[in-house]
Amino acid sequence: MTAGTALVVSAHSADFVWRCGGAIALHAEKGCAVTVVCLSYGERGESAKLWKQQGMTLDKVKAARRAEAENAAKALGVADIQFFDCGDYPLELDREARFRLVDIIRKVQPDFILSHSLDDPYNTDHPYATRVALECRMVAQAWGHRPGEKVLGAPQLYLFEPHQTEQCSWKPDTILDITPVWEKKKAAIECMEGQQHLWDYYTNVAENRANQFRRNSGGQAGGREAKYAEAFQSIFPRTVDEL
Ligand SMILES: [Zn+2]
Repeated sequence: MTAGTALVVSAHSADFVWRCGGAIALHAEKGCAVTVVCLSYGERGESAKLWKQQGMTLDKVKAARRAEAENAAKALGVADIQFFDCGDYPLELDREARFRLVDIIRKVQPDFILSHSLDDPYNTDHPYATRVALECRMVAQAWGHRPGEKVLGAPQLYLFEPHQTEQCSWKPDTILDITPVWEKKKAAIECMEGQQHLWDYYTNVAENRANQFRRNSGGQAGGREAKYAEAFQSIFPRTVDEL
């Protein structure tokens, strides 16, 4: 696949970097216009390092998180990043914010959408974002919503990897080789200065998923020599002419 468009729905401003930065960079290099929507800055729940600094305020944290996310988006080749500033811990979108997301989905007409796992007992904002993404995908498909606009087709929704997969009912069925763009993902990760404790962790995740990529692509019998990978769980069936 080349060109086209994609949409990432990220609960907090850094989630898209750890969980699908490689997918973003890879598709962007192929000419795909990737739009990222950050529903919140993660200002309350995912900014502990910033809050430990003297004289910190909510507005300062938001500004720092926004700058980090914009730098990371640039490193990954994101075409457009939008911040909804809906608040986190808990994240909550009213009807107006939901329709704003529907408008973006219709405008972008994504070939695929990326969001969080359907469960996450550690972070309820994450599955909330996915429910919202699913709901807005559904509304964008409805002929009766803002009649006359181009309705949405049926883009796949890929769920990116949560922090602790076993607790999140997440089971990958797709492994993407991101070796060619690893340096871009690494650069984006290093923009997330507020969460430095996760840098090594997500490098290890990428190396382990690459091991599984090699195993599932033929291993030593001719499998691809992937060094870094990202895994995803798809929601909808594929429609095919051949297996
Ligand atoms: Zn998050």
